[in-house]
Amino acid sequence: MDVFAHLAYLVAAVLFILGLKLLSSPKTAQRGNFLGALGMLLAVLVTLTNKEILDFSYIIAGLVIGGTIGAVIAKKVQMTAMPQMVGMLNGFGGGASALVAYAEYLRISTGTTATTIDSLIALVLTLLVGSVTFTGSMIAFAKLKGIMRGAPVLYFFQKQINALMLLAVLVLGVIFIVDPTQSYPLLTIVGISLVLGVTSVIPIGGADMPVVISLLNSYSGIAAAATGFVLSNNVLIVSGTLVGSAGLILTNIMCKAMNRSLGNVLFAGVGTDYEASVDASVEQRTVIRYTPEDASFMLENAQSVIIVPGYGLAVAQAQHILHDLAAILMTNGTTVRYAIHPVAGRMPGHMNVLLAEANVPYDLLFEMDQINDDFQNTDVALIIGANDVVNPAARYKKDSPLYGMPILNVDYAKTAMVCKRSLNPGFAGEDNELFYEKKTMMVFGDAKATVTNLVQLLKK
Ligand code: NDP
Repeated sequence: MDVFAHLAYLVAAVLFILGLKLLSSPKTAQRGNFLGALGMLLAVLVTLTNKEILDFSYIIAGLVIGGTIGAVIAKKVQMTAMPQMVGMLNGFGGGASALVAYAEYLRISTGTTATTIDSLIALVLTLLVGSVTFTGSMIAFAKLKGIMRGAPVLYFFQKQINALMLLAVLVLGVIFIVDPTQSYPLLTIVGISLVLGVTSVIPIGGADMPVVISLLNSYSGIAAAATGFVLSNNVLIVSGTLVGSAGLILTNIMCKAMNRSLGNVLFAGVGTDYEASVDASVEQRTVIRYTPEDASFMLENAQSVIIVPGYGLAVAQAQHILHDLAAILMTNGTTVRYAIHPVAGRMPGHMNVLLAEANVPYDLLFEMDQINDDFQNTDVALIIGANDVVNPAARYKKDSPLYGMPILNVDYAKTAMVCKRSLNPGFAGEDNELFYEKKTMMVFGDAKATVTNLVQLLKK
């Protein structure tokens, strides 16, 4: 590879880093995305024009087929189904890395290229991490899509069996590195790693899937970086490492948001048989149904309102009309702020993206830690399509999948106004006793219809 290519890779790496930096604020995120894409374009062009690549027909065929499928899926996917899609794409990333590593093995096994011990180690690692990422992501996809039951699948000696499989991969790896002419250790590593991907994700409950998706995202980056070592490709090492570390940072943020350690998420089997344990005492209680007229009266007289958006806001696509409602309230002299829970919705940053789409000013959005102490001085907590992130069971109910997750303290506000269609539970399947409290106003209906109604009433 000539000096020009190395320099271009360096420029691409700088563009990736700048892109990531700019992505950290909503104001600069679009520019960050553009710079990252530009870096990737540069890296792809330089790699494709590299003298070592001779046959373009497979590359073009791959681009056309893969690009078409990707474009169609991306166009069709609902915003609310994004985590499943991200989960699946992570899996393909890991699978692709494993395939590239195996292809490289086939090349070196002909004996025409010299190999070093470090590239053999990287090859084994790529096959392990890439294969685990592939099947693990497919299980995460199936759980999120509802193809598989969300509850953890647990069996005896699960952790020990997983540890044994990992040990077997390491032993086979050493056997391969000592004698790379043998192909059976590599194929067995792939087989065991594919099984390990499944067995390490099935014990994790559906409610913990956001963390798993983010961890698998990090794995796919690590697999890509290891492939970079196999191929001696610097830009792949840099970009893989960036994905790997960004994924780990996000995993850490999500764990903190749920007040859980990563070990607890991965191994504790939280949410086991949860579907069977519906709280009978909650079921028998009654709720008071309020009309939009009651709600508009309450809002009109409120001095301060904190809006808590959740997954239902995204389903109803009520973000624009909600912005209108907030504008009317502010014109009326009410202080309006939005409280954003880190795992609200179905993907990290889901609510921020949704509200940005409706041009809600960033300075009205507050993270949980910034605003949680203010609920007690607030007249109305207006909860639109949120459920788990305001469920008090997270504070005390030890067998709940939500237990330990910090929630938005909407029940400390003078009134908690909940807009949703029914008493159905949220993602974690946990009944919400907030709905039965005296200070709670349940306003049933589709979020968009309810908020539209409120806007019309307030305009009058
Ligand atoms: P929840 O999933 O807990 O609750 C959403 C509520 O929205 C439901 O109870 C539903 O009630 C209501 N809803 C659905 N459609 C509508 C509609 N059209 N109009 C009005 N309401 C509607 O959402 P939260 O945001 O509170 O919590 C997110 C959950 O998702 C957490 O458990 C989190 O761990 C999990 N998760 C988060 C991810 C992330 O990265 N952010 C990724 C994957 C999962 P009803 O049917 O009665 O209307």
